[in-house]
Amino acid sequence: MELRFTDDELALRDEVRAFIKANLPPEIKAKGMRGEVPKKEETVLWHRLLNKQGWAVPHWPVEWGGKNWSVVKRYILREELERACAPMPNGMNVSLCGPVVAQFGTPEQKQRFLPRMANLDDWWCQGFSEPGAGSDLSSLRTSAKRVGDHYVVNGQKMWTTYAQYADWIFCLVRTDPDAKQQRGISFLLIDMKTPGVTLRPLLTMEGGHEVNEVFFDDVKVPVENLVGQENRGWDCAKFLLGNERTGAARTGNAITLLRTLRQRAQTEYKNDRPFIEDPDFRDRLIGLEVEARAHEITTLRILDDESRREKGSAPNPLSSLLKLRGSEIRQGITQLYCDLAGPFSQHLDLTLNDDELGPEWAGLATANYLNHRKATIYGGTSEVQSNILSKAVLGL
Ligand SMILES: Cc1cc2nc3c(=O)[nH]c(=O)nc-3n(C[C@H](O)[C@H](O)[C@H](O)COP(=O)(O)OP(=O)(O)OC[C@H]3O[C@@H](n4cnc5c(N)ncnc54)[C@H](O)[C@@H]3O)c2cc1C
Repeated sequence: MELRFTDDELALRDEVRAFIKANLPPEIKAKGMRGEVPKKEETVLWHRLLNKQGWAVPHWPVEWGGKNWSVVKRYILREELERACAPMPNGMNVSLCGPVVAQFGTPEQKQRFLPRMANLDDWWCQGFSEPGAGSDLSSLRTSAKRVGDHYVVNGQKMWTTYAQYADWIFCLVRTDPDAKQQRGISFLLIDMKTPGVTLRPLLTMEGGHEVNEVFFDDVKVPVENLVGQENRGWDCAKFLLGNERTGAARTGNAITLLRTLRQRAQTEYKNDRPFIEDPDFRDRLIGLEVEARAHEITTLRILDDESRREKGSAPNPLSSLLKLRGSEIRQGITQLYCDLAGPFSQHLDLTLNDDELGPEWAGLATANYLNHRKATIYGGTSEVQSNILSKAVLGL
């Protein structure tokens, strides 16, 4: 097995690094380094710069702006963006909905939606989960009844990330209440401005507004917004969820955060000695550094395997390991940032920040710690990933 990058891949890595250095606005980079979430307009600006460069959707079919990139090249781009703490291209558009439309959509749907998705002219959100349908997604109840040339949608979606920014939502809806669970589901594209669509924000523990409830009350959706066949939406969902899991490694980000943490531990003091000299802290820091490197190698092994698989075949079940361990490592890092910040990590009101209240990064430590509880839940919980690994990998 070959774990080294080829000359071609190394050249791409250098090109990406140079592009980020020359083009990423410093204020957006600084926010990323502090662990702050970029504003909508900052994500849009950066996404469009990447798209102009051909790097927002390099994995899409060439006729829709893709570059036929290997999984390894895609990994290199993602890792470099993460190491630089740059915003990622909007994943809902480029990694989740776009590939589904490219694979299952009609020529008209591709023409209408894909170019705007690639350039983030439309912001998409994901309407899969519902109250009572998360891990057990196929028990979803939001209904879509066919009436003439449209569907009438009623129900509720839950935990919808950045629905407050979204122009469109891609939804799983039940079109046949009598069919066996997975058989009666369809994949529908819904304009968020349609009468009957309403939002309610859900605030996360640290007070952030990332997720929402989305309600549908007699929402009329034209039948031409159905992707794939009626009652065969589960095929689209399986295809999409496979892509969601393989994109979950995030090792570049972990390695940058650990490097910064180590630097800070050399300049922050505990009992008149640099923090890094505290044996317990150092032990845990080194433990995470080793885990992050091991995770990077595991990621490359899985990518190597994926690059040999036939296009369209089921994803390697080991990609569940990336989601499982990657999210735990990131949670461990946010815990160490809190330990390093000590009491300064308590104050969440950034407007109060001054020398007496400690360094700016410290004020975000608790917020980041609390926010990262989500990492072991979204995109398939840790327990669900463990189930997949125990069945499909360990054969238990
Ligand atoms: C921050 C955040 C953003 C999200 N964004 C979106 C989004 O944009 N769009 C969207 O559609 N969804 C989104 N989700 C929803 C996410 O996909 C679900 O939360 C997730 O699938 C878990 O479902 P649930 O919350 O209903 O929990 P449940 O499925 O009810 O699980 C509750 C607990 O039971 C455990 N459990 C469940 N089944 C099993 C099993 N078979 N074996 C062992 N343990 C089990 C789970 O691990 C968990 O601990 C988001 C979630 C979060 C936290």
